[in-house]
Formats: sequence, structure tokens, C-alpha cells
Amino acid sequence: MEHSFSMGRFVITVLPGDGIGPEVTAEALRVLEAVGHRFGHQFEFHEALVGGAAIDATGSPLPPETLDRCRRSDAILLGAVGGPKWDDPAAPVRPEQGLLGLRKAFDLFANLRPVRAFSPLLHATPLKAGIVQGVDILFVRELTGGLYFGPRQEAGPDGEEAYDTMRYTRAEIERVVRLAARLAQGRRKKLTSVDKANVLAASRLWRRVTEAVVRREFPDLALEHILVDAFAMHLIRRPAVFDVVVTENMFGDILTDEAAVLAGSMGMLPSASLGEAPPGLFEPVHGSAPDIAGRDLANPIGAILSGALMLRYGFGLEAEARAIEQAVEAVLEAGYRTQDIADGEARVVGTKEMGEAIAQYIRSEA
Ligand code: NAD
Repeated sequence: MEHSFSMGRFVITVLPGDGIGPEVTAEALRVLEAVGHRFGHQFEFHEALVGGAAIDATGSPLPPETLDRCRRSDAILLGAVGGPKWDDPAAPVRPEQGLLGLRKAFDLFANLRPVRAFSPLLHATPLKAGIVQGVDILFVRELTGGLYFGPRQEAGPDGEEAYDTMRYTRAEIERVVRLAARLAQGRRKKLTSVDKANVLAASRLWRRVTEAVVRREFPDLALEHILVDAFAMHLIRRPAVFDVVVTENMFGDILTDEAAVLAGSMGMLPSASLGEAPPGLFEPVHGSAPDIAGRDLANPIGAILSGALMLRYGFGLEAEARAIEQAVEAVLEAGYRTQDIADGEARVVGTKEMGEAIAQYIRSEA
């Protein structure tokens, strides 16, 4: 791998994918170019195929050339994959296999999903503004173990029974909790671990290991354990009290979608999937939105903020990441809105104009 951080040069594989993927990725690149120019970094972008676009061109959702490109890069920036064209459940290959293949190839065991309520968008959530105000949560979801990957049986001997297994090892829990704890140290020093220790054996192990790792290695953190059912309720009652939240794969899947409501629109949310070493995978939370694809209607902010996560968690460039987040805030403050977050007073703009406004703000601050 050619990691060359010290020279201010970063090699990034760009996987635009399907639907609105290429549209939002183009805006993320526009903004990253502006950051590179302002802070004196060289971002080297190499585009490759993934998902449905890759199936059409090569028959595979993750062609070997794409994987090889990713292996030789410092980070991977992805748009979205999937769409009705490739939806046939009987098809031998599906676009999502591209994503799963990337997670597997780079052992991306931690999925980071920050959820922030931007003040100008408080109206866009169905919750009361007073509840959402000040929300700034970082979810860390375990991504490669637990219920989604444990032993399973689709049909019992008579076809009347099925089961899945939530299985974790100490090592799997330790690595994701350690990563979450490190992130909490760089924030408000509060870590919430979500489990179901009153019922599940895997959760009791999760709680024991979490307690031991944090007490031993991160004594400066305030650690709390909350049962998943209670947490689901607190998350919409008093979301602003949480900082970093770490949890098992399926619990994380469900809770992060619940939390997405706090940000106003799917189109606003970024994510990062990290392993022990680069490259990490950075992508907006939303899908390929075929209903609006190709019409300059998509909100590019989730993709642009994924670029900020790449700078922060992929390259350790905190000031640069903040510059993007501040630019997003400023542009929202100035009244720019894509149609998904529009309100009465807003200046409704398309994908490109939103991306350009954010890039322009970054350039103007230089
Ligand atoms: P979706 O996120 O694509 O769209 C859900 C709704 O949100 C749609 O009405 C869409 O127009 C809107 N939306 C999504 N992103 C938006 C944005 N940036 N700006 C404005 N509006 C936005 O989810 P879906 O409709 O369930 O799935 C569509 C396709 O995407 C499916 O093929 C699905 O498998 C795939 N998918 C991919 C990913 C991924 O690549 N990570 C994630 C979820 C779904």
C-alpha cells in the first residue's frame, strides 16, 4: 500500500456506483478539491466500478481491478449501489455484494455514523425542535459479527423452523469498543454501550468485555450501559445527552436508522467503515434513490460530509474536516436547500449548486 500521508498526498479510490451515486460523489470531489487547494494537500482520485454499473460492464459487482485499485489506496469514497434494473432476487449477482465484498476484503469491523442536528434544519424533523437541538451523536456499530453473521438454519427438518445466532468473541468486542473509546476520548469523553444483557448471553459478554477494556485502558471516560429497548426510547426523548454510542451489529442497524430521523433527511448523513488499517470506506448513508436519479435533485451533503469523515478518520486531518462541516453549516444558514430539506423560506437549489456553494465557501475562507 502506498500510504504517503506525511507528504500531504493521498490516494483515493472513487466508486460512484449507481443512481444518484455519481451525482453526489462528483460534489464530494469538488469540495475535497477546494480543501486540498486551501490546505495544500494533493488528493489523487482514481475512479473504478462497483455495484450495478460494474455488473453491466464486467458481470461482477466488485471486479478484481476495482479491488486492486482499493488495495493501493489510502481511502475509498463510495456513492451508492443498487436499483430496479438489478433487483431480480433470482439474479446470480447483486449490486450489494459489491459493498459486502469491500467490507470483507478490508475487514471493516466498525461502522461510524455521526448524527448531528444542524440548527437551520430543526424544522425538518418530525420531533420537537427543543428535543433535537444540540444533538451530536457518534454511533459505532459492530459490522462483521453478531446476529447477522452467526450460524443459521433457514429451514428445520420439516421446514417449520429457522434460527439465527448472535455470537461474539472477546477479541471482536474488544477491537470495536477500543475504537469507540478512542473516539470518545477525542470528543466529550462519554461512552454509552447498548446491549440486552438481561436476556442475551452474547450481551453479557459484550458488557463484561466493554467494562474491562474501558476501566483498564480508558479510565478518563464516563461509561454507561443501557439496554437496547430503553435506549430506543431515550434516543427520541433526550437524544442530546448521548455522545459516542457503541453497539452490536443488528442493534446498531436498527438504532442508526431511528437516529437518522434526528438529522432531518437521509440525504444529510455520512458514514465511515473502518478496519485496523487503511483503506477505510466512506459513503453517504442513503441508497441510490432511483426515483430522483439523473435530475440534479439529490442532496449531496451526505456524500460531502463523508468526505469530511475521510479527512478526519482516514487521514487525521481534523482542521480540514471541520472546514467542510463549517461550510455545510454556513451554506444551510444562508438558506440553501435541496428539495428534500426545503421549507417555505428556502432557496431551493439542485445537487450541483449545493456542492458548488459549499466548495465556494471553503475557497472564500482561504
Ligand atoms: P434510498 O436511500 O435510495 O431512498 C429512500 C428515499 O430517500 C427516496 O425517496 C429517495 O429519493 C430519498 N433520498 C435518498 N437519498 C437522497 C438524497 N441524497 N437526496 C434527496 N433524497 C434522497 O433507499 P431505497 O429507495 O430503499 O433504495 C433504493 C436503492 O438503493 C435500492 O436498490 C437499495 O438496495 C439501494 N440501497 C443502497 C445503499 C448503499 O449503497 N449503501 C443503501 C440503501 C439502499
